[in-house]
Amino acid sequence: MACRQFDQAADAINLPEAIRDRAKYPRRCIAVSLPIQRDDGSIALYEGYRVQHSLSTGPSKGGVRFHPELCLGEVAALAVWMSWKCALVGLPYGGAKGGVSVNAAQLSPTELERLSRRYMQELIPFIGPDVDVPAPDMGTNAQIMGWMMDTYSNHIGHLVPSIVTGKPLSLGGSQGRSEATGAGVAHLVCRYLKDFLKIAPAEATVAIQGFGNVGSEAALALSRNCGAKVIALSDEHGGIYNPRGIDVPRALSYHRYQATLRGFDGAEPISNDELLSLPCTVLIPAAVQRVITPTVAATLRCRLLAEAANGPTTYSADKILETRDDIEVIPDILCNAGGVIVSYFEWLQNRACEYWDRDTVLAKLFTQLDRALEAVEAQRAKYQFSRRLAAQTLGIERVAHAKQARGLFP
Ligand code: NAD
Repeated sequence: MACRQFDQAADAINLPEAIRDRAKYPRRCIAVSLPIQRDDGSIALYEGYRVQHSLSTGPSKGGVRFHPELCLGEVAALAVWMSWKCALVGLPYGGAKGGVSVNAAQLSPTELERLSRRYMQELIPFIGPDVDVPAPDMGTNAQIMGWMMDTYSNHIGHLVPSIVTGKPLSLGGSQGRSEATGAGVAHLVCRYLKDFLKIAPAEATVAIQGFGNVGSEAALALSRNCGAKVIALSDEHGGIYNPRGIDVPRALSYHRYQATLRGFDGAEPISNDELLSLPCTVLIPAAVQRVITPTVAATLRCRLLAEAANGPTTYSADKILETRDDIEVIPDILCNAGGVIVSYFEWLQNRACEYWDRDTVLAKLFTQLDRALEAVEAQRAKYQFSRRLAAQTLGIERVAHAKQARGLFP
C-alpha cells in the first residue's frame, strides 16, 4: 500500500527516476529474536523488528508496536509513512518504526518488562539519540518506554533520556505527550469543520473506532474542548452507541476498570463494522490499518473522515473516496502528526535539560499543525490534488530533495 502510494505521488510530481528508489525503499531493516523467560520458568521466543526508512534529514523517529500479527512488511510501511509525516510537519527527522509480534495482553507485567528490555538490548547497536529514537505506538505505553530508556542508559553508563520519547514525566517525558496525538486530531477536526465544512463543532456528532491512547484522548478533547457529541466508541471487543451522546469521561473510567466497553450502561452495543457506517459528522478510525475497505468506503455516512490511525484506508478504498464529494478526508500523515511533533518537543527538552509547561507544549503543537494544514491546502489548490496526495507529495518531495542535496556517498 505504501509502495503504491509512493509510485502514484512520485508520478504526480514527476520525481526524477534517479532518486525514486532511494526515496522509496528503507535504509535499514532489522529483525531480531527475543528470547525471554516466562514466569513459569519456560522460555518463549518472539520476533522483533525495526525499520529505519530514512536517515537523511536527522535521526529516524517512530513508534514501537506490540501486536500479535505484526510482520516486517507492516513495520516497513509504517516507517515509510513516518518519513513523509516528519517531512510534512517540518521535523528534522527521518521515519522509522518497530515492534514485536506478540499479544502483550497475555504477558504478565514482569514478562512484558523482560520483553521490552530485551527488544531495546538487541537494538542498541543500531539506535541512539542522534540515530533513531523510538516512541510508543499500539500496544506500548509510557512505562515500556521507561524500561527501554533504563536498559539503554545502563548500557551507556549514564542517563540518556533522549533515546526514547513518550516516557513517564518523572523520567523526562514531556507535558502533553500522552494526549498529543488525540488532541492534535481534535484540533484539526475542529479546524476542518469550521473552516471547510462550515459546521460548528458543537453541532457535530462523532464516531470513533479504537479507544486506546489516541481514540480516548481524541474523544475527550472533542467532547470537552470543542463541545462535539461523541455518539459511538469501540475497541477490539466491539462498540457502544448512543445517538444522544456518550459521557466520555464515564466511558473512560469504565474502560479502565473493565478493559472493555461492553456492558457500559450509557449506550447500546454496536459492532465495529456497524460503527464505521453510522450516520455522523466525523468518523475517526483510531485503531488498526486497512479498516476502510472499498465496501466500507461506499457505505460511509460521515462528512469528515479523520484518519487518526496509520493507514486505515486501503488504496482501492481511497479511489472510491476520491469520487465522493460528500466526504472530506484528513489523511493520516497530517491527522495523527501531533504525536511525533510532541515527541520532537520531548527530545528537544531532554537535550536542553529544560522543561516546558503543558500550555506551552499544546500551543506550539497547534501552531505546527496549522502550518502543515496550510501547506497541504496550498499544495492541493496549486495542483488540484486530493488532500491525501497533497500531503504525501509534500512529504515525499522534501525527503527526496534532502537526499539529492546530500548527494550519493561514496
Ligand atoms: P492503543 O494500543 O493505545 O489503542 C488501540 C485501540 O484499538 C485499543 O482500544 C484496541 O482495543 C483497539 N483495537 C485494536 N484492534 C482493533 C480492531 N481490529 N478493531 C477495533 N479496535 C481495535 O494504540 P494507540 O497508540 O491509540 O494507536 C492507535 C492508532 O493510532 C494506531 O494506528 C497507531 O499507529 C496510531 N498512532 C498512534 C500514535 C500515538 O502517539 N500513540 C501516534 C500516531 C499514530
